[in-house]
Amino acid sequence: MNVPLSNLTKQYLAIKEEIDAAIQKTIESGAYIGKGNNPFILEFENAFEDFTQEGNCVACANGTDAIEIALRALNIGAGDEVIVPAQTWIATAEAVSFCGAKPVFVDIHPDNYLIDIDKIEAKINPRTQAIIPVHLYGLPVDMRAIVKLAHKHDLKIVEDCAQAHGASIEGRHVGLWGDVGTFSFFPGKNLGAYGDAGGIICSDPKLAQRCKQLTNHGQERPHSHIFEGRNSRMDGLQAAVLTVKLTYLQAWTQRREEIANQYRAAFTNQYRVQKIPESFRHAYHVFSIETEQRDAMREHLNNLGVATAVYYPTPVPLLKAYERFGHSASDFPVAVAQSKNTLAIPIYPEMKDNEVQCVIEGLQNFHSCNQAIMTTH
Ligand SMILES: *Cc1c(COP(=O)(O)O)cnc(C)c1O
Repeated sequence: MNVPLSNLTKQYLAIKEEIDAAIQKTIESGAYIGKGNNPFILEFENAFEDFTQEGNCVACANGTDAIEIALRALNIGAGDEVIVPAQTWIATAEAVSFCGAKPVFVDIHPDNYLIDIDKIEAKINPRTQAIIPVHLYGLPVDMRAIVKLAHKHDLKIVEDCAQAHGASIEGRHVGLWGDVGTFSFFPGKNLGAYGDAGGIICSDPKLAQRCKQLTNHGQERPHSHIFEGRNSRMDGLQAAVLTVKLTYLQAWTQRREEIANQYRAAFTNQYRVQKIPESFRHAYHVFSIETEQRDAMREHLNNLGVATAVYYPTPVPLLKAYERFGHSASDFPVAVAQSKNTLAIPIYPEMKDNEVQCVIEGLQNFHSCNQAIMTTH
């Protein structure tokens, strides 16, 4: 059996008629660019606001831009420092540097691989202006604690929700706890376009308006540029696709949870997995298991036809791109261990029960094979 990490073609075929009709309608309308009052963009923004239940949504070109635009809207720039986790996709840190600010990395917590909240305060100084908690793999960072910390030190919060569509704490969607929440609609994300796309949500309508203007050359009205912005508009076509897919997101997230619960029930005694606090909803973009024999496990699953991935093999501050900061592995021991010992296994809404079973058996066999090896030596 071949079990992939995701199957976007299968997803498309299941909703082909609706998607094809939406694409056709967009092409016929001529509303290709997400500026002004493009109806496909407005429809998607409204639908996403309904999905998160509060806040104002601003569509943009991708999830990396979303973070950068959020930071710029909050006036973060040269001379400022922004706290980011050591384990995330590089985009979180790039957005900070592209604003002219400095990313300051904090190690992750071994229970959940999210920014270690107890280690943030030591990195705060008078230049610190913001924190970017990343809801890695779809599990929310404890925003109640982050908000407390941000109030105490007068910091802004931009939540990187690129992997966390549908995730919440006490029923409140991630992205609404801080000043701004940013999303990626990269095809492989839980809500994915057919190309690059991103979005921003925030409770403050003025801040949302500023974000919107930043995505479209600082235009208030056509040819009235009130500040310098950029071109980071979502395409009408992507918005139309996302509006269709959004109607399935709740059901898709429930299916991800179902699979995750089967995994959790099967592995609790064998492998460490992310710990989920009471009242937190995990969006399960990634299901990750921890094992010191990660590479052997990867090979074992690969031989069975089960695809796996490593998110991410090198903590961001140790990438060549950040060598100017002179960090070493000993600065981020938990992120380094996590990058060596965790493995993402297949989880996607179209996954069949027999495929889930195949992954579970693969993992259980590996465990018993290894126990046998260990006892005979
Ligand atoms: C995907 C991702 C981004 C960037 O999104 P793009 O749409 O690819 O630019 C940012 N942060 C995290 C954590 C991501 O997973």
